[in-house]
Amino acid sequence: MSNSRIPGRNFLFVPGPTNIPDRILRAMHVVSEDHRSPKFPELTLPLFTQLKKVFKTESGQAFIFPASGTGGWEAAITNTLSPGDKVIAQRFGQFTHLWIDLAKRIGLDVIEQDEEWGVGNNAERIEETLKADKNHEIKAVFATHNETATGVTSDIGAVRKAIDNAKHPAMLFVDGVSSVGSLDFKQDEWGVDVAVSGSQKGFMLPAGLAIMSVSQKALQAGETAKLHRAYFDFQDHIKANATGYFPYTPALPLLYGLRESLNVLFEEGLDQVYARHHHLAEGVRAAVAAWGLKPCAKEAKWNSDTVTAIVVPEGFDAAKVIEIAYKRYNLALGAGLNKVAGKVFRIGHLGDLNELMLLGAIAGAEMAMLDVGIPVTAGSGVAAAQAVYRANPLLQV
Ligand code: PLP
Repeated sequence: MSNSRIPGRNFLFVPGPTNIPDRILRAMHVVSEDHRSPKFPELTLPLFTQLKKVFKTESGQAFIFPASGTGGWEAAITNTLSPGDKVIAQRFGQFTHLWIDLAKRIGLDVIEQDEEWGVGNNAERIEETLKADKNHEIKAVFATHNETATGVTSDIGAVRKAIDNAKHPAMLFVDGVSSVGSLDFKQDEWGVDVAVSGSQKGFMLPAGLAIMSVSQKALQAGETAKLHRAYFDFQDHIKANATGYFPYTPALPLLYGLRESLNVLFEEGLDQVYARHHHLAEGVRAAVAAWGLKPCAKEAKWNSDTVTAIVVPEGFDAAKVIEIAYKRYNLALGAGLNKVAGKVFRIGHLGDLNELMLLGAIAGAEMAMLDVGIPVTAGSGVAAAQAVYRANPLLQV
């Protein structure tokens, strides 16, 4: 069959960008308007208040930058630290790796701690390192709530405890790019000083906004921080945002989209959003087990509810599975990155999704694996996920 045009929607199952609900697409379909008009703050001011609820912070300051998550990493660093400052960062996947790389290029002295790809932040090791730092030279700990490359969720509460146990004043920076809005994020409870997210994952928007929440402690650190900052200067934003404006032209349609995204999240209810992500993820994990395969996450405690990286058997190329899924079945699966390239394919299960959508992705992944010769039993993953979804359906009637 020629596949010059595959009818129907593309099945988008990469772990970001995620599906954009039609109502959010419609909300972004707006004419241009004056971002300095007296009316503009009616749109913007509630966004900051609502975002604080998503980050679960009372005292934090929310920021919306026209950037992707990577810009948020940079903003976190340049607004709070000085050249040569020491920070701890653990590498256990492509995104932890990239954050380290960015921090070094900006001029930080990064204490790099390599962990196995498939585990998350090692709180004990952080505690030991901080305890050994008697002069408090370490200024920040970088943690990654959800490592998207390996499908691993870290225990940020445990990282907080490690810092407290060491009685160390280091700030805690958390990458929540693939968790905020999909997994419970507790900024105040965890004492997170800078939380970084992006618009294209749990917020169900296109890429283009770096969404952040910053503690008062981190804002204070900014008063003496010497790294250069201009475009991402927190203070410029605080000043303008206070009255509902931005220091430069904001990405207007994305702000309308964000308003609708927050409506969508709050209408479902954040707790239900998190429960749904867990439920959908359980179905995917049941499918992986039924295929006789393993997730990249080394132990159940690391399992991510937003993305599962599935390890293909030795001798098979995961990139081939992804290619066939895309070309033959119009299904976009996430690629294996860096160390796990060719070894894993990923099913993103975050954002605007339900059970049948997931079953479609599982069926497509199963067909693509069979097509490349991976010996899974046809229908086994779908049946296992169906059993999970039928046992406790999302919509109880
Ligand atoms: N951090 C994590 C955990 C990510 O998954 C990503 C992107 O997928 C990033 C950071 C980088 O974000 P962006 O691609 O929006 O710059």
